[in-house]
Amino acid sequence: MTTIDRAFIHAKLATLSGEGLGVVDDGAVVVSGDRIAWVGATDDLPTEARAASVEVLDLSGRWMTPGLVDCHTHLVFGGDRADEFEKRLEGVSYEEIARGGGGILSTVRATRDASLEELVDAASSRARGLISEGVTTLEIKSGYGLDSETELRMLRAAAGVQERLALNVRKTFLGLHALPVDWAEDRAGYVSYVIAEVFEAALAEGLVDAVDAFCEGIAFQPEECTTFFEAARKQGVPLRLHADQLSDLGGGALAAWMGALSADHLEYASAASAQAMGEAGTVAVLLPGAFHFLRETKAPPVDAFRANRVPIALATDLNPGSSPMGSLLTAMNLGCVLFGLTPVEALRGVTVNGARALGVAEAVGSIEVGKMADLAIWEVGHPRELAYWLGRNPCVGRVFSGRLDDLD
Ligand SMILES: [Zn+2]
Repeated sequence: MTTIDRAFIHAKLATLSGEGLGVVDDGAVVVSGDRIAWVGATDDLPTEARAASVEVLDLSGRWMTPGLVDCHTHLVFGGDRADEFEKRLEGVSYEEIARGGGGILSTVRATRDASLEELVDAASSRARGLISEGVTTLEIKSGYGLDSETELRMLRAAAGVQERLALNVRKTFLGLHALPVDWAEDRAGYVSYVIAEVFEAALAEGLVDAVDAFCEGIAFQPEECTTFFEAARKQGVPLRLHADQLSDLGGGALAAWMGALSADHLEYASAASAQAMGEAGTVAVLLPGAFHFLRETKAPPVDAFRANRVPIALATDLNPGSSPMGSLLTAMNLGCVLFGLTPVEALRGVTVNGARALGVAEAVGSIEVGKMADLAIWEVGHPRELAYWLGRNPCVGRVFSGRLDDLD
């Protein structure tokens, strides 16, 4: 074994490796540098891990899980949309607000007006809330710029969050999010502009871990998303898709056919989409925050996902319009209460399957030798409590890249 830095002993482990929770009752995790070097029963701890040079931390029976993964957020944005929240409560629909120039387009105006530093400051503040819940990997999308300058600034801000905080940030270029007003008469021209100018520039700066598109009647058609995806595939960039949130455009199946990592939302996904996703191994990322805030009534077809062995992930969708929800634990609870997930499915959704949706399952998402030593420590009797409580955070410790940070 390589040099051992620290060992966590007497933990109840939910490793999330294999099926289910992967429980080790009295477990230990040995860390070397930023990696997990050994996992097993405390009784079997290798003698090297007992050396005087090793920092040994006794967890006294607390639960340890992999660090949580929030695989779908729009965490970088200017302004907020509390005014629209108020309007929707007065009966105006999300679609009406979007068609009236509000919705995404109002956040576009505020984001264009914000400096890089302002974006990083605001996003870091939101990210700290997630960190306090044991999140160690976070996805951040662009998509509120709709021009080259602002899209790049958003992606740089996402990179800035990673520089500032102990957090692994995955940057997604959401190239097709909304059609800017000045391109209203030239949809095809806008798609070409996004591909040839914005995507290429972001790629050249190393700011793109994946691309994403919003496939919906109020956003972009399947054919437009396909054009964008084909350009991304040529560059070897992984794909994600906002699919079937407000209507069934066959987005889930489209994502599967294109070999996307995930299709996200999926309230209106058909049985055929679920089947195609199962065959392709496309992750279903469920976003109960948007469902909750938009007061939707049609839940995603969870039974069809199960029947087709579609991996299910859960995320906050943290964004200023349809899901101003800064808590992944809340997403777990809502996923169970609103969508009928089991607490084990919810935990898998914010660990292994969240990692898979980001294409980083080789490195994070479970407690296994060789993976990043990204861990969360919980004051709970059982991991089902992570989905059980609403508005209560039982995270008492977090390890990022092998280092323990204090959460008080
Ligand atoms: Zn989204």
